Formats: sequence, structure tokens, C-alpha cells
Amino acid sequence: MLILHELGYNVTGLHIDLGIPDSSAKARATVENFCQKYSLKLIVRDMALEGLAIPDVKKYLRRPVCSACGKIKRYFFNKAALDGGFTVLATGHNLDDEVARLFSNVMRWDISYLSDQGPYLPPEGGFAAKVKPLYRLSEFETANYAFLKGIDWHWSPCPYSPGATFTYYKSLWSSLEEEMPGRKLDFYLGFLKSGRPAFAREEDISGAVLNSCERCGYPTSTEVCGVCRIREAVEQARKNIPDLQK
Ligand code: SF4
Repeated sequence: MLILHELGYNVTGLHIDLGIPDSSAKARATVENFCQKYSLKLIVRDMALEGLAIPDVKKYLRRPVCSACGKIKRYFFNKAALDGGFTVLATGHNLDDEVARLFSNVMRWDISYLSDQGPYLPPEGGFAAKVKPLYRLSEFETANYAFLKGIDWHWSPCPYSPGATFTYYKSLWSSLEEEMPGRKLDFYLGFLKSGRPAFAREEDISGAVLNSCERCGYPTSTEVCGVCRIREAVEQARKNIPDLQK
């Protein structure tokens, strides 16, 4: 965000407060202080106020919490970009994030995700344009930049990250990179050059038609979008299990 600002872009920060104890409050404070220090605008979306605090989602949904959490974050990223009339949504995903995600998509042969993973996605079908300017840089390099620049950082890992698939894939790829330097970048750039176009052609043939969610209007291939279904499941659990109301 700071680099984009220094390059002359008109940027506004976006922070999703996931409501995770011992983690989210510190992350939010770090982001708020950062934006205040550099006089940058900031939008904060609080998942507890949306009825989607991640601990509630974890407790009452019978599915891996990281998958629901990812869906919720993508939803609010896109919604904030569209509601705010922004021309593009830039995220801080680095090479390690992208490689772990690509590897996960390959492990499931998820054609839908493989057809559009990349550092730029044009705006279409109710989704804002997306860019990932840091996609060639490793986590280590971005952390070094922040350190040398004197940017305050926050380290309080999500309590749900141990055992998460992405965490495991990242450590797997770190070991591979140590043995064979350059593999991460080769894997990702090779996919962008040869893999993605092939999966995109496949998706064109079998591509799902998107409708508007009956509840919120968000683009979805079902009648009710994934986030509205998560919200309703948590609300239902809240009615049935009184201790959630405290
Ligand atoms: S590790 Fe925590 S913050 Fe990350 S996706 Fe999983 S639940 Fe969400």
C-alpha cells in the first residue's frame, strides 16, 4: 500500500477484522496505526458486526474454517471495492502465497480456480478488477523491505493456522526452495505461461453461469451465495445454542 502511495496512486486501505481472540485486535491496531502514520485512508470491516466472527464460524460450521474464512475475506474484499467505486482491488499476496494457493488448486485439480489464478484479473460479472503487485517477491523479501523501511509489523499467528493445509504447503515449498533455489518462481511463472491458458480454455467450455445471490446480490452459481449461507448457518446455531448469544 505504501509503495503504491509513493508511486502516486490514490490508495485506500482495507482491513477485515476477523474477530479472532489474541490475533485480530493486534492486527487491526497495527494497520490503523500504519495508516495514521502515513496519512492513508482506511476502510475497516468488522466480521463480528456482520455476524461472521471466525470463532463462531469455526464452532458452528461443519467444514474447514480456513475455507470459510477465505470465502468471507474474498467476499468483503470484492464488496468493499465495488461499494466504494474503486477501479481496482490490490492485495498483498506474495510469491509464497501464490505458490501455496496454486499447489492447493493443483492438488484438487480445481479447474475453476486454475483458470483464473494470476496477478491480474479484469473486472467482470460483478467482480472488481484485482491485482497482486507483489507476486514475484517472497515473504522473506517483503518482510525485509518492511524491516528496512521501519514499518511496524504484527506477528500473532492465527490460532487456527497450525494444521491448516496452506501452512503445510508453504513449509513444503520452503524445503523444496532450499534444496532447489528458484523452483517457486519457475513453478508459478510456468503456470502463468502454459498452465493457466489451458485451464482457461477448459473453463470456457464448461464454465458455470453466474446469477445474483437472492439475499445480497453477490455473483454466485447457486441461488444463495456461500457467505449468505455461512451467515444463515451461524444465525441458526445462535438461536439453537444460547451460549453463542453471550
Ligand atoms: S489461518 Fe486463520 S486467518 Fe488464515 S484462513 Fe485460516 S482461519 Fe482464516
